[in-house]
Amino acid sequence: MSVSPQTRVELLSVPLDAITVAPGNHRQDLGDIEGLAESFRRIGIVQPLTVRRRDGGGYELVAGQRRLAAARVIGLSAVPAFVQSYADSDSRKAMAAENLNRKDLSTLETAAAYQELLDLGVSSDEIAALAGTSTQHVTEHTTLLSLPKKVQRELRRGSISADDALMLAQLADDPECLAAALNKGRGGWNLGAAVQHELHARELARRIATSQAELERRGITTIERPRESFSRQAKVQRLGNGWGCIPITTAKHAKEPCHAAFVDEYSGDITYVCTDVQRHAGVVPGIEPPEDRKAARAAKRAEREAQKRAVETRRAAVATHLRDRADTREASTHLKRVSLLEADEGTAAIACELLGLTEIEDEHRGHALTLVKRVANQPAELSRVSLALVLAQGELYAGRQYMSADERAVVAEHFAYLARLGYELSELERGLMGSDDAVGGVAEPDETEATS
Ligand SMILES: [Zn+2]
Repeated sequence: MSVSPQTRVELLSVPLDAITVAPGNHRQDLGDIEGLAESFRRIGIVQPLTVRRRDGGGYELVAGQRRLAAARVIGLSAVPAFVQSYADSDSRKAMAAENLNRKDLSTLETAAAYQELLDLGVSSDEIAALAGTSTQHVTEHTTLLSLPKKVQRELRRGSISADDALMLAQLADDPECLAAALNKGRGGWNLGAAVQHELHARELARRIATSQAELERRGITTIERPRESFSRQAKVQRLGNGWGCIPITTAKHAKEPCHAAFVDEYSGDITYVCTDVQRHAGVVPGIEPPEDRKAARAAKRAEREAQKRAVETRRAAVATHLRDRADTREASTHLKRVSLLEADEGTAAIACELLGLTEIEDEHRGHALTLVKRVANQPAELSRVSLALVLAQGELYAGRQYMSADERAVVAEHFAYLARLGYELSELERGLMGSDDAVGGVAEPDETEATS
């Protein structure tokens, strides 16, 4: 703010009765007047008051309300005063600015002083500069004046803090929300949290109303949020590509009679839905008409029963075969082929080595596959390859440091076979064989020699 350069100031002795206090002077609590009056009594008025000459005669106080009151207390008839003769609004600006610089103004008095300056056309930035504070501080404080009188009274009494009042001021334009927040505060809520809660509820209500208005404007059927729409069988489903959604775009579906939407009560967002998913059966992938689902279930059931019958028939045939002709050339070939197909990769690797096969298939289970292919190309090699696998199994176990009882039995069988071919077993190998009974039977594992 600025004071006009034409302002004239005189120091005069002004009759006390001629000084009036402008209604805009917001100093409500004058504090200890008696102390000031006592000092006037002893040493007189050291600092003159500031007054403005009124158009209709007399003076209006600009600064010095406490001094004026103290002078009245001790019954002075006149006081020394700087008499200003500038325009009315300048006078009020000067007065409000003077008020701002008092140290003991209450929160509401500060707010009123800010408001007065705003009303006089002084900007928030200028006021902030004048009061040595931030523009935000000015704005926040002036909103306090829009709080209901009852709340302002509580603030004045100190039953709510300035911070709480500033929080509440965010709800000043909505008496219902404000009352709700205050009630929560009295009910034990942190007042800040109560205000936040009300602000959030208000924002949510606003968003829901906006969404509903939009749907109405666009003529879209609005439904309640469906209770169960994330199920494949649900009649109502969301549109889109997510889980439990029907994969049609909103734009495409908008022309369908089953097009609708609901407003989410927790976010206020609009969610588009199809209210009759079956209408799209056969057109939209993944939606089967109920009769198709029933037929698919019946087919599955029939297949399971046919499988069960086949098992019974087949097992009867196999049992007959085993009774009549177990030891045939076909049986022997079958045994060899199955063991070839079942060979594990570790055993197959040793078998390949034993057979001198070096070109190994470059694939998962490459060694096993190499053996299968070899027999496919040279069927006469079946016996040699399956024997290689059996011997490789024995070699695999015999190379192990620790063997299970089953593995030891295989190793014993393996060594016995080699011995019959004329291979001379070393002492270690004989030890690994365990007892001589191994040949032709299953050896009992011998723990004392197992690890030697
Ligand atoms: Zn639809």
